[in-house]
Amino acid sequence: MLRPFALHRPGTAEEACALLATLGEDAAPYAGGTELLLLMKLGLLRPRHLVDVKRLAGFDVITDGGSLTLGAAVTHRAVERSPLVAARCPLVAAVARHVANVRVRNVGTVGGNLAFADPHSDLATLFLTLDAIVQLVSPRGRRELALADFTRGAWETARAADELLASVRLTPWPQGTAAVYVKFGVHERPTLGVALALVLDASRARVTEARVAVGCVDPRPVRVPSVEARLRGVAVPELEDVAGAIGELAAAAVEPDDDLHGSADYKREMVAVFVRRALRIAAGRARGASTPIPQFPHAVIA
Ligand SMILES: Cc1cc2nc3c(=O)[nH]c(=O)nc-3n(C[C@H](O)[C@H](O)[C@H](O)COP(=O)(O)OP(=O)(O)OC[C@H]3O[C@@H](n4cnc5c(N)ncnc54)[C@H](O)[C@@H]3O)c2cc1C
Repeated sequence: MLRPFALHRPGTAEEACALLATLGEDAAPYAGGTELLLLMKLGLLRPRHLVDVKRLAGFDVITDGGSLTLGAAVTHRAVERSPLVAARCPLVAAVARHVANVRVRNVGTVGGNLAFADPHSDLATLFLTLDAIVQLVSPRGRRELALADFTRGAWETARAADELLASVRLTPWPQGTAAVYVKFGVHERPTLGVALALVLDASRARVTEARVAVGCVDPRPVRVPSVEARLRGVAVPELEDVAGAIGELAAAAVEPDDDLHGSADYKREMVAVFVRRALRIAAGRARGASTPIPQFPHAVIA
């Protein structure tokens, strides 16, 4: 049951931060409420004041100024439907379509997802490969942090109590990048997420740069520099040949724990399998292959 609370609806980020600073531990930012209200109903969180961030000026906009900026209060549904996101980062729109269910997507926000820092976040994994930078606002002003530094661990971020996540800035890959996101899981939230992008040379013959992130198995998602380095310079027709070794390299780089999603050994094996599969799909996309995308049980491919 929900305990009584006061709902504050400031109009600006400055007012919201001032409220958070004044109310201290008794207050929490409130966006879509898909996580927050659940925890409050369970009695795991008991804030007496909620500070609504959905109406804050500039928090619900998507802008393109070279990089793509998603306001913290932008919903998954808005990302999924945005022509701007589809044009600049099509994979981000495609992944948004597969977050949770439509009820959660309608109200759940990008900022709420990143600020909650659930290890089982698709956005946090994918955004790492887009060199995401988060913008934070507080009574002390604004600051920016790489998403990799913002997310410190499971449900833990670098956000101070009186700080708000205002937006996240993504650096889109060059046109023609062959990219894929694969998520696997049998629970409500993903057990594994793999984001893989291959930047190609002008003739689409060779990988010039690779970005690979694995999420949901470690307490926070990670880029995999060993895999990225191994993929750099590989000729597109040879990607198939290295797929097995790349999967093994990724599995060696993660440090999963045993939990309800499976044992550490199981997760490591799944990383090897799904990184290999992701690379094969991206290789097909690099070749411009028109073959249908393979389907795997309990997996979503975007
Ligand atoms: C059934 C279910 C399935 C899900 N499946 C997936 C999935 O497949 N993939 C995936 O990635 N995610 C999944 N999620 C997570 C979902 O994406 C998040 O619930 C949602 O995005 C959180 O946003 P919200 O606006 O509802 O956050 P809220 O619940 O409002 O807030 C979450 C937390 O963030 C804080 N917060 C919110 N906004 C800000 C801000 N601007 N600045 C600072 N702190 C803030 C709140 O104080 C709270 O601690 C699932 C969730 C549910 C309930």
